[in-house]
Amino acid sequence: MVVYLDNASTTRLHDKVIEAMMPYMSIKYGNPSSLHSLGREAKRVLDDARESIKDAINLNANAKVVFTASATEANNLALKGIAYALKGKGKSIVVSSIEHESILEPCKALEREGFKVTYIPVDSNAIVSIDAIEHALRENRDTILVSVMLANNEVGSIQPLKDIVEIAHRYNALVHTDAAQALGKIALDAKSLCVDLITLSAHKLYGPKGIGALCINSNIPLEPIIHGGGHEYGLRSGTQNIPAVVGFSKVVEMSREFIDVYSSRVKALRDKLERSILESIKYTRLNSTAKDRLPNTTNISFLGINGEDLIIKLDEHGICASTGSACSTLKQKESHVLRAMNLSKDARNGSLRLTLGIYNEEHEIDYTVSVLEKVVNELRKISPILSSE
Ligand code: PLP
Repeated sequence: MVVYLDNASTTRLHDKVIEAMMPYMSIKYGNPSSLHSLGREAKRVLDDARESIKDAINLNANAKVVFTASATEANNLALKGIAYALKGKGKSIVVSSIEHESILEPCKALEREGFKVTYIPVDSNAIVSIDAIEHALRENRDTILVSVMLANNEVGSIQPLKDIVEIAHRYNALVHTDAAQALGKIALDAKSLCVDLITLSAHKLYGPKGIGALCINSNIPLEPIIHGGGHEYGLRSGTQNIPAVVGFSKVVEMSREFIDVYSSRVKALRDKLERSILESIKYTRLNSTAKDRLPNTTNISFLGINGEDLIIKLDEHGICASTGSACSTLKQKESHVLRAMNLSKDARNGSLRLTLGIYNEEHEIDYTVSVLEKVVNELRKISPILSSE
């Protein structure tokens, strides 16, 4: 038996997605730039997919949806694209300290090129400080871009984006949000958020890996970072991955259905899992109790033990979990998110991220709690910190 509780890393393809993609991997193999019928069909599919995405997240009619090979690439395009396009106007960028590496690493690269990046602190629930954003904007009047994720991938905290946009726009800065974890789990309405650029990903929501998108409101200046034949409005050259575009478009179409399931069934399972662990296992701590939190995510520290040892033990019992951001690489490094939340070293070391999805069932939750009780006990017996318990 496999109990998959790592849905923030990636998800299983939905059957309807596979079904939609299949013809485009066999008989409908046209290149959307070709003029013949197969090409024209691919072009139609591409255009329809852009419209579906615009509809699903309520983008302006003239917004651009640029398909990329990942949310990582979309984040790079947003940051570098704006920075290079607006460097004559300003060299200051403001981001939260709990962003995904695909934001933080391009920021470091931009710092090496002479841009100034301000990293905004968060509170103990991993919510960014609005006051600190305003302070950064007041101190750096040449800020061109503020980038704050909609929902955090490690602890699930949902950021007050509407307030952030309001402040940033007052200081004439554009706003980008990485909504890779938010899509299909919470409402995402581009018009009501008034955000300028949005990153999306398909594989966090039962779609294929290797496709993401950057949604760009009209009149936002952006320099391409991949040059070539001028695909995707000249912003991302390279023949489009049509089967993946079709799969992406399918999950986006289904995103409202997913939100219903997440906000009811998945949340109930997550709450049960969280409650049972905290009640039945001593020395545990829920990391982020934010009022606004993704319905499928929990991050719990098991004091006195090492999170990686726990993952290995869980895996021996068929349970897939992670310590935090699994999308970086296999190299385990300490969570910058838990550090920004000011957690103790022990709590950071012993953290476990469990992220549920639409395929999880109640018996899997009961099983996970019973396995955790057993393996945490075993690990604590050999823990140098808690072995006396
Ligand atoms: N942004 C966030 C918030 C994520 O959680 C992830 C992956 O975990 C990414 C970006 C990168 O996504 P992709 O794997 O599509 O590059």
